Amino acid sequence: MSFDAFHLHPTIGAALKSHGYTTPTPIQTQAIPKVLEGRDVLGLAQTGTGKTAAFALPILHRLSSGPRGLVRALIVAPTRELAEQIKDSFDDLGRGTGIRAATVYGGVSMHQQIQALHGRCEIVVACPGRLIDHMQQGHFKPAGVEVLVLDEADQMFDMGFLPSIRAILARLPKMRQTLLFSATMPDALRGLAHECLTNPVTVQVNHDVALTTVTHALYPVVEHLKTPLLLALLKKIDSESVLVFTRTKHRAKRIADKVKEAGHSSTSLQGNLSQNKRKQALDSFRAGTVHVLVATDIAARGIDVSQISHVINYDITDTPEAYVHRIGRTGRAAKTGDAYTFVTEQDNGMIRTIERKLGKSIERRTLEGFDYRKAPASTHGQHHTAGHRVPGAPGKSGRSFWRKRRRPR
Ligand code: AMP
Repeated sequence: MSFDAFHLHPTIGAALKSHGYTTPTPIQTQAIPKVLEGRDVLGLAQTGTGKTAAFALPILHRLSSGPRGLVRALIVAPTRELAEQIKDSFDDLGRGTGIRAATVYGGVSMHQQIQALHGRCEIVVACPGRLIDHMQQGHFKPAGVEVLVLDEADQMFDMGFLPSIRAILARLPKMRQTLLFSATMPDALRGLAHECLTNPVTVQVNHDVALTTVTHALYPVVEHLKTPLLLALLKKIDSESVLVFTRTKHRAKRIADKVKEAGHSSTSLQGNLSQNKRKQALDSFRAGTVHVLVATDIAARGIDVSQISHVINYDITDTPEAYVHRIGRTGRAAKTGDAYTFVTEQDNGMIRTIERKLGKSIERRTLEGFDYRKAPASTHGQHHTAGHRVPGAPGKSGRSFWRKRRRPR
């Protein structure tokens, strides 16, 4: 199937071509015709499936005709990074149409946003909190909104945005098209979907679509050896884009520093950074000047760096859904990726839950040549005594399961 089948506005068709998109992804094939028909859509798809273009293309098509200079499409997303990414997609796919998109989120000055909101854009991509501020102050006039997209609805729910979303919904025109995208559909979200969608069409891509292009592996390791193991792995990985996840902001910073000390270009992406610093971190990772980005879940939600070849979970996730979200950062679209997870003995329960969710067991690996018996630094280099259980120590055969990866294209 080709994009021609959708009969999109010729300028959008040209932008698609220059962007190198030739074949719609499964979520695009299913969703685009329905959105073009004006139907409400419940899209069950995670990032990496092409869901942004699945709503951006038909919205751009719709806005190609009709009035300009008022906000006609509103996209609500959980994080600033995702909002910027969505705006970039609208800019790229709408090149030449004259349709303008603006972002609205907290942590930066209101002024520029106010200017954009006063007659300078047709699309607003917003995070809930700041959008409500603009609504309350009368800078955002919802009366012209024809299409609403709630993107990564499950993440917004997890982040406690549900009341804000309800407040936003209450101010939007009742006659509108609503599209709700979410990777998972917990019960509480089902209620919201029921409230805001009218006779929706459900489109769903297999949750594992992005995951099938990813090779998963577990690296059993004791807690104090996680950093040495990470550094040893990074030495072996011939890649320019590795995303490492940690459980806390503090850890993300500390580990990024260690990785840097070891000679890699590395930085952290976490909530303690100013918005400017977060943007810088992400931009340098995207541009390839930073090769190892160490991030927390919240900061990295939805980020799309298409060349990421490896995701390393320095700390395991708290839920299987979060695992799927994290590794959705690699293996995007048609690319392949590797997802490595460091596991300590305490993590066994979560591993079983994740394996159940994936419907398969994940390979356990050991890193050849790595000293799994090294004692914590505080014991001054003493080695563990014989008989001490060292999870994940290489077996007698010393066989390496390591698969060296070619440089990503
Ligand atoms: P998303 O799920 O929207 O975050 O998109 C994931 C990645 O797939 C992004 O890097 C897009 O640029 C890319 N992408 C989206 N649609 C297509 C397509 N039809 N062909 C190739 N790449 C695509």
